[in-house]
Amino acid sequence: MSYSLYLCRFVGGQPAPMDEPAIRDVLAPVTVGGMPPTGLPDSWELQAGDGGGSEVYGDALGLTFNRFSTGQILDRVAELARRTGAAVLPLGCPAILTSDADRRHLPESLRAEAVVVAPEALTGLAVQLLISPQPEPRRRPALPSFPYHPNPVATGSVTPYDGPCACCGQERGWVYTGPVYATDAPDSGICPHCIAFGTAAERWDATFTEGVEGAVPPDVLTTILRRTPGFLARRSPTWLTHCGDGAEFLGSLDKDGRPTAYLFRCRVCATSLSSADST
Ligand SMILES: [Zn+2]
Ligand SMILES: [Zn+2]
Repeated sequence: MSYSLYLCRFVGGQPAPMDEPAIRDVLAPVTVGGMPPTGLPDSWELQAGDGGGSEVYGDALGLTFNRFSTGQILDRVAELARRTGAAVLPLGCPAILTSDADRRHLPESLRAEAVVVAPEALTGLAVQLLISPQPEPRRRPALPSFPYHPNPVATGSVTPYDGPCACCGQERGWVYTGPVYATDAPDSGICPHCIAFGTAAERWDATFTEGVEGAVPPDVLTTILRRTPGFLARRSPTWLTHCGDGAEFLGSLDKDGRPTAYLFRCRVCATSLSSADST
């Protein structure tokens, strides 16, 4: 967040006077002690109805707003820019203009980067958004693949997480949020990799699903119980199977925010299967 900005109108690369009555009009209602009968004070304090404030100094050739608050103060700054055609120059950010035609009037060093916001859209919030540092969206690494639970992020069993895994200690960008069945395993904090590789299951003799319905080969059973993210249910549901293989879990059907059935699909014949969450 920048805490200082400069408001200046440029003509031919040089500061040109802003309309002084407009400055008085716009800033008088938030000027502590009010405006003098004519002209502008050398420096003055602003205090807005929402509690925000700013120090102002300068004159019609350029006003500096120091330690300004967002909210109503920034709304006044935006209004002043709209009424006077001045550029908003936040410290360390590109200049904000209300017309692309003003770009050629800027000092050359500011021209290329300047941002144009139509006057009707130039509000205090627009200024705030332009000067707030935008957090870089963190790119998360790919998840290991789970043949029986193809999209554990969509089902809510794995969520983004910025912290170390309780098992491997690495920051994988993801954490498992489903059930862990083991006597002394942590309830949370296991990364999906430690589930996929079987390390969490081995370390704590844990499973992530309580049971499998139907007969499947032992390696399928092991994969579903010990190497596949489980899912939270009101009653511990069993993993469904079909055509001699475990089915893939797709998610739950909710009614009024409460899961009513768990959906699976056969990996062999693609038949949809569901187990009701009856209470
Ligand atoms: Zn891990
Ligand atoms: Zn099938």
